[in-house]
Amino acid sequence: MAVSTDYDLIIVGGGMVGASLAIALANSALRIAVIEAVSAKSDQQPSYDDRGIALSYGSQRIFESLGLWDALSSHSTAIKHIHISDRGHFGVTRLSAQQEQVPALGQVLTARAMGHVLNQAIKSQDNLTIISPASVIALQQHNDLVELKLDDQRLITAQLLVAADGGQSTIRQLLQLGALEHDYHQAAVTANITPERAHQNWAYERFTDTGPIALLPMSENRCSLVWTVKSGDEAALLNLSEQDFLKQLQARFGYRLGKLTQVGQRNSYPLRLIQADQPVQHRVVLIGNAAHSLHPIAGQGFNLGLRDVAVLADVLTPVDKDCGDARLLLDYKQWRLSDQDNVIQATNNLVTLFSNDNPLLGHFRGAGLSMMESLPPLKHWLAKKSMGLNGKQPRLARGISL
Ligand SMILES: Cc1cc2nc3c(=O)[nH]c(=O)nc-3n(C[C@H](O)[C@H](O)[C@H](O)COP(=O)(O)OP(=O)(O)OC[C@H]3O[C@@H](n4cnc5c(N)ncnc54)[C@H](O)[C@@H]3O)c2cc1C
Repeated sequence: MAVSTDYDLIIVGGGMVGASLAIALANSALRIAVIEAVSAKSDQQPSYDDRGIALSYGSQRIFESLGLWDALSSHSTAIKHIHISDRGHFGVTRLSAQQEQVPALGQVLTARAMGHVLNQAIKSQDNLTIISPASVIALQQHNDLVELKLDDQRLITAQLLVAADGGQSTIRQLLQLGALEHDYHQAAVTANITPERAHQNWAYERFTDTGPIALLPMSENRCSLVWTVKSGDEAALLNLSEQDFLKQLQARFGYRLGKLTQVGQRNSYPLRLIQADQPVQHRVVLIGNAAHSLHPIAGQGFNLGLRDVAVLADVLTPVDKDCGDARLLLDYKQWRLSDQDNVIQATNNLVTLFSNDNPLLGHFRGAGLSMMESLPPLKHWLAKKSMGLNGKQPRLARGISL
């Protein structure tokens, strides 16, 4: 029989991934607490800034099953086509929703809009207590429970702890878990851009000798920019006047969207790969960026984290006994292993291939893009992978509510 604890499940981190897990378990019998360091009312909530997030078709299906898609879709813009090119080399490939027989290849919305929808949903959840602002400062794993100490000295216990506390995960550090860490020595500069021509739901990924540029379609004919540059070069781009910034971007991206006329607030993010060695421990699971932080080149970080959520919720529903039982956690670990490894590897390979100005690699990239364009089965395989539709799908991704 399970011992008595304050909660069945504690989720540390109420950002995009942690909040999604709490919502996915709304119909379960579990007593859940979310511990979040930054108050939901604060503009400084780091998970919910103005970056554009491309949700894969698979993520859209998960949100549909969670009953959140209607609210999210009013902030989202569909990606109907993707255009991938390499500046200075011939070779282009295009993907289309029609060819893939899906309504959209993905949807783009800001992290802030997503945060608003997720926060509204968790506020009214019966089986959930939100403890915020609060941080975990110590943690002990006992045989039957985990015990957390908060920064206000409170002690709380649960059968299972899920760490969704981001790339710099405190839980990972408190447990002294090893992680593969690789500094790309790159930064992503983000901003919303308004082009002269209508984007017509095209997403563009353009590889250039100074790093990849992604422009994703958004509402009001804006495009969400992610511009990868070498570390140190981001400061100059952030400090340029709006006109000079647009001029430099135009020179790199070209005129596919006509003249680029406006730029919104610019931000930058250092880029590192972090992959926890052992994301499943005794009564502890790491998910989302706490388990794997990716380069944004392929827009897969949150999508991968949401698949962690969908599988963990699947394994935990229904559970009438101890939700921290080692067999349940092993099921989760085995189910997630190959998707996590594949996406991490593929993203890392893309960074190596496309952030390199070696001319030989440039020819290889051009040839690769042309080959993909002329081989529909290869394109279909790539599209399915980036839509998150490969492998065994959890119930939420198949349209089944938990
Ligand atoms: C420029 C850029 C563009 C991106 N574009 C895409 C995209 O198009 N598509 C995509 O899928 N992904 C994209 N990503 C990745 C995506 O943003 C992340 O994968 C996602 O934010 C991870 O969410 P998370 O909840 O795991 O972590 P985070 O967003 O880091 O949230 C962690 C939460 O935990 C809280 N926290 C931290 N420490 C503690 C503590 N000790 N105690 C309590 N709470 C704590 C934080 O306050 C925060 O709320 C992009 C990333 C970047 C940088």
